[in-house]
Amino acid sequence: MLQWIACALSFFFILLASFSQAKALVHSESFVRVRIKSLPAKFKLSGENIQFIGIERKFRSVSLKENQSVQVEIQRVLVAAKSYWQVSRNNLPTTRTLLSSQPALMIQGQELQQGATTLPDKIFFRENLSGSVDLIGVLPLEEYVFSVLTSEMPLGWPIETLKAQAVAIRSYTQAVINGRQSRPYDVESSVLDQVYKKPQGINQAYLVKARQAQRETEGITLLNSKGQTLKAFYHSDCGGKTVLPSSVWNQEREHDVGTSVDSFCASNPRGRWSLTMTKQKLQDLLKSFVGDIRSNDFRKLVGFMDLKSTQFEVFENQGQIQFVGQGFGHGAGLCQWGSKYLGQKGLSYQRILKHYYPLAVLKRDSL
Ligand SMILES: [Zn+2]
Repeated sequence: MLQWIACALSFFFILLASFSQAKALVHSESFVRVRIKSLPAKFKLSGENIQFIGIERKFRSVSLKENQSVQVEIQRVLVAAKSYWQVSRNNLPTTRTLLSSQPALMIQGQELQQGATTLPDKIFFRENLSGSVDLIGVLPLEEYVFSVLTSEMPLGWPIETLKAQAVAIRSYTQAVINGRQSRPYDVESSVLDQVYKKPQGINQAYLVKARQAQRETEGITLLNSKGQTLKAFYHSDCGGKTVLPSSVWNQEREHDVGTSVDSFCASNPRGRWSLTMTKQKLQDLLKSFVGDIRSNDFRKLVGFMDLKSTQFEVFENQGQIQFVGQGFGHGAGLCQWGSKYLGQKGLSYQRILKHYYPLAVLKRDSL
């Protein structure tokens, strides 16, 4: 077995330099770093034209063929008490291995795939505090906005509604990037932030519509009453009125932008819901909680998908507790079902945004 160990000191510094340049690029040119998933210390990756940034000169010798999918195995290994990335490709006549000591392993290619997940063309891997590996995608901000739009809203909805959603996604993302600069990534790819996945299996007409919504709002964000980029929350269905972010999450007090009375989401066919549990189960759930309980914490305790909103009435009958409610989601910011109705009524995306973020103003990026 032929093995290369690429850890000469000078080479290591070249790697570090190339990584810090790439990191600078991420922030100066509005790229978004999305944590796509967490992986064990050993995993496989496939793709075409795979290049390992900073070490591709070495890796070219392994003959990754153009336009042909190849698979590599990546592993965190310890050599002389120091951690390295070990990259192997074993379906060549000779197994070859490359070691890299850079803190993050940066890769670009096409058709990149990890397990069942299709990846963007630029990714990097970084070991996290729990010893597993974060797979982080790097996307231009506008490409990210487009992708999230295809996941977060049905694309059959009115174009002005999609544009309002695109502005909310862009603002939320920009605000989060501004507030999390010390982290190795900007956003989670789940409902913890916004759902991101590479658009796949979506019909062409819908993709064109999503692209139109992104392009026609390109560079446009919302500013809060302090002139900062607004962390523009949005949710499925407010159930009749929106709430301040500060009433849902303690830490978001600075982002107050007003609330709306909103009858427009009554068009949601699944707007009303009920949940029944035994009194004993409710008591057991509440036992784990000490002190005051915020309505959103109570939702979390019961389960966000079961207790769909914090707008409910409670009924007790023969040891059974019934919650009867309306709406779906935390209720802060833009109400998607209401914005659908407003789009159908012919309102522009600017007016839709004004309804849901009454104290915010629109800003067009001057770049
Ligand atoms: Zn609503």
